[in-house]
Amino acid sequence: MGIIAHTYYPQSGRLVILGAGESGVGAAILGKDKGFDVFVSDLGEITDHYQAQLLEEGIAFESGKHTHELILNAALVVKSPGIPEKAPLIQELRSLGVPVISEIEFAAQYTDAKLICITGSNGKSTTTMLTYYMLQKAGLNVGLAGNIGNSFAYQVARAQYDVYVLEISSFMLDDMYHFKADIAVILNITPDHLDRYDYKMENYVKSKFRMIQNQGESDYFIYCLDDIETVSALDRFEIKALELPISQEKEVVPGAFLSTESNIIINIPNGEVFTMSIEELSLQGKHNIYNNMASGLIAKLQGLRNQTIKECMGSYVNISHRLEHVAYIGGVNYINDSKATNVNSVWYALESFSTDIVLLLGGVDKGNDYDMLKDLVKQKVKAIVCIGKDTAPIHKAFEDDVDIIVNSSSMIDAVQLASHLATKGDTVLLSPACASFDWFKNYEDRGDKFKDAVMVL
Ligand code: ADP
Repeated sequence: MGIIAHTYYPQSGRLVILGAGESGVGAAILGKDKGFDVFVSDLGEITDHYQAQLLEEGIAFESGKHTHELILNAALVVKSPGIPEKAPLIQELRSLGVPVISEIEFAAQYTDAKLICITGSNGKSTTTMLTYYMLQKAGLNVGLAGNIGNSFAYQVARAQYDVYVLEISSFMLDDMYHFKADIAVILNITPDHLDRYDYKMENYVKSKFRMIQNQGESDYFIYCLDDIETVSALDRFEIKALELPISQEKEVVPGAFLSTESNIIINIPNGEVFTMSIEELSLQGKHNIYNNMASGLIAKLQGLRNQTIKECMGSYVNISHRLEHVAYIGGVNYINDSKATNVNSVWYALESFSTDIVLLLGGVDKGNDYDMLKDLVKQKVKAIVCIGKDTAPIHKAFEDDVDIIVNSSSMIDAVQLASHLATKGDTVLLSPACASFDWFKNYEDRGDKFKDAVMVL
């Protein structure tokens, strides 16, 4: 159950949607179906696809501007997670007392489906997709939403699911107040997006913990007991849900842990114990053990049979751009980890290779602290090829640890440089630790350009 329906926010009148991306257009459609007078406003150009959808639905919109008179008279505003709280328009709405909420908060009012919500600095998409894969294979009537695929609001409006698996980013959480997750997962909390949180880690942690607000005793909270930030924050928040920790360091029951024989062991109250060797997992690497533990716990809570869970964990193929194998050329493996947009995910990427690495690193720096990479870089990285605009922090961080650090002028240039620097048995790894929008449209575009460049070597 999302939130107690129809209690907190206006249920009619003018609904203004700020930002006409997937979530905004979905919220507009749901709002229209619920009888609101809907208006969509986007400061940027709305893409042809979404303009066509709005026209087809007969929803009023403006593109490339915010007309304040058409926005400030709203009874309720749904804002895209991309718009920061500090934006003057949001501040103005707040001062007028107009509720400004996220699409997820808005849509949750209109569904009774069970909501499984996954957040974390890293591993959200992988764990969300793996969970969805398992529940779908087991025959549940399950929807997938949040940061992935069709928006939650659109599906609440036009589909009928009993369960949703939602990938939730911290930006979405920032505008969630009365939302309740039946199962809340915080995979890990490591520095990311600090530019949006006044460069204060505690603000970012607080945002992630919004995940468990409003939970009751019949709900579940899955978190990582090995994650320092999460564990040190536990005392600061009231936890009513049943706690199901995951750990690779300690035995936890109930919860999921790694045994000394390298088996994942999962226990939930009144459930048959689940055991599976990590060698049988289709997603390899230390980080994916955590992701499998979280998904396995959810699957058990949904009543899946151990055999089904095992088959799914052994057969799941990950989505692209996450440690994706691209090619083996001249004895060198080329790996696309373009989704590694922060330092922590690069740590896990480096950790998962036993070869020497030529690392493609860089892009838009979000206030990165590269210290945690230094040991692994020293051990495994023979050369760094910088991509993107913020190359100075990379040189500064690693000048004493790596003999060769070179700048590139394009992805093609970077891949060519890397191919010259790599020798037989090495790995060329794109794992940038940065956002992509200086040279690329997004991380997918960055990963695709990398793959294209490898293919023409
Ligand atoms: P998100 O959706 O949170 O960005 P993804 O599943 O897309 O996460 O993975 C992003 C990056 O983080 C990938 O490079 C992947 O190798 C790494 N990663 C995946 N799971 C974890 C985890 N549990 N802990 C740390 N890093 C992870």
